[in-house]
Amino acid sequence: MVEQKTLEDYRDEIAQCVRCGACQAHCPVYLETGREGSVARGKIVLAASMLAGEVGLDERLRNEMSLCLLCGSCVVKCPNRVPTDGIVGALRRRITDDQGLSPIGKGVAALTGSKVLIKTLLKGADLFSPLLFKKIPETSGLRLRFSPDILKDRSLPPLPERNLFARVPEFLEGEADKPVLGVFAGCALTYLYPQVGEILARLPHSLGYSVFLPRDQGCCGMPALSSGNGPLIDKLASANINAFRTRQVDTILTACASCHGMLAGHYAAKTDNPFEGELVDIHVFLAQQGLIDQLAALPRWRQRLRVTYHDPCHLRTAGITVQPRQLLRALPQVEFVEMEDAGLCCGLGGTFTAAHPELSRSIGDHKVAGIQASGAEMIASGCPGCILQLQDIVDRAGLPVKAVHTLELIQQALTEPVQ
Ligand code: SF4
Ligand code: SF4
Repeated sequence: MVEQKTLEDYRDEIAQCVRCGACQAHCPVYLETGREGSVARGKIVLAASMLAGEVGLDERLRNEMSLCLLCGSCVVKCPNRVPTDGIVGALRRRITDDQGLSPIGKGVAALTGSKVLIKTLLKGADLFSPLLFKKIPETSGLRLRFSPDILKDRSLPPLPERNLFARVPEFLEGEADKPVLGVFAGCALTYLYPQVGEILARLPHSLGYSVFLPRDQGCCGMPALSSGNGPLIDKLASANINAFRTRQVDTILTACASCHGMLAGHYAAKTDNPFEGELVDIHVFLAQQGLIDQLAALPRWRQRLRVTYHDPCHLRTAGITVQPRQLLRALPQVEFVEMEDAGLCCGLGGTFTAAHPELSRSIGDHKVAGIQASGAEMIASGCPGCILQLQDIVDRAGLPVKAVHTLELIQQALTEPVQ
C-alpha cells in the first residue's frame, strides 16, 4: 500500500554518494555529536558495506541508524540528492525484521496502532500524568514511550477535555458550487492541540468549502516509520486511504508538517488512492485563497505582538517556507521578525526524542540564541511536534516566549476585535 523500499532497492542511490561531505554542515545530529557515523556520508558508507556483506546488523550499525532525525536536511543539500532518510528507514525496517521491535517501537505500535487505546488512555486523564502512568501495565512499551525519565521536566500542554472529533462534525456543508475538501488532522491535532485542528477544518469552511473530516482516520505512520515498523506503516496507511475513499474530495489539507511529509512522501499510489491527488499544507492553501491580501487589508492593531517563525523540517525540505512568512507578515496584530537559524531542526524527530532524550534537547537548545536575539514573544510554526519541542526549549531557557501554530494567530486576526 505504501512505498517501502528495501535496502537493495536503494543500491543505485547509495552508489551515487561521492563522499563530498556537503551534507555535514546541515545535519543537526552531526552538529551536536561531531561523529562521522552521525552524518549522511557515514550512514551511506555503512549501508554500502551492509550491501557488500562486509558488516552485519550489529550494535554499532543499530546505534548509528538510530542517530537520525529523518529530517531530510542532508537530502536537499546533497548534489546527487542521495535519499539518506529513506535509506536509514529501510535499514531500520531491516533491523526490526531481523531482531524485532525495540521497546520504544513496541510503545509506538501500541499507541498509534490502536485508536481505541489512545481514546481510553486520554479519557478523563492527562496523558502524561502520574495517574495515567500508573494505569499503563508494567509490561507495556508505553511505559518506555512515556516514562518519567523521558518526560522529566518537559513542558507539556494541558490535555484538552474534548478532542477534535468532539468539536467538529464529520461533514461541514459548504456552498454548492465549491468542492469538498478533506482534512487530515493527525494524532497531535486530534488529541493534543484540537483547537488548532478545529481551525484547520472551520477556516476553509468559512471560505465556502464543504469539509470532510473522516472519523476513521488515524496516525499518519510517521512514528512507525521512525521506529522501523513496516507492517504498522501499511496498516495505518490502509486505514487512512479507506477513510478518505468514502467521499469524493478535491484536495486533502494538513496542518502538521510531519503528517504532510509522511503522506506526500510515503503513501505511494496503487489504485484509487485519495492521497494521490493534491495534498496541500494549510499555509499554501490559504495563500492560494488570497488570505494574505485579506489579512493585510485588516486594520492594524496598535498593540502588536512580536512574532518569529520556526521552519519545520518537513515543510522546509518540501520547499514550503515562503507562505507561512507571508501570512505572518500580513497579520494586523503581528510585528514579524526573522530569527537566526529559523531552519535549524528543533530536535524532536518522531521517536528520536524518546530514544535519545538528552541529544534531542541539546539539538533543540541550538535554537535558543536565535529566539532570544529576535526579541520575539511568540514563536509560530506549522508542526505540532515542533510546537511541543519549542515550548520545552524556551521554558528550560527561561525565555518568556509562547510557541503557537500559525493558524492560531490567523484565527485571532479574523475573530478578535482590533486592540
Ligand atoms: S552530500 Fe550527498 S554525495 Fe556528498 S557525502 Fe553527503 S550523501 Fe554523499
Ligand atoms: S536525515 Fe537529518 S539527521 Fe538524518 S543524516 Fe540526514 S541531516 Fe542528519
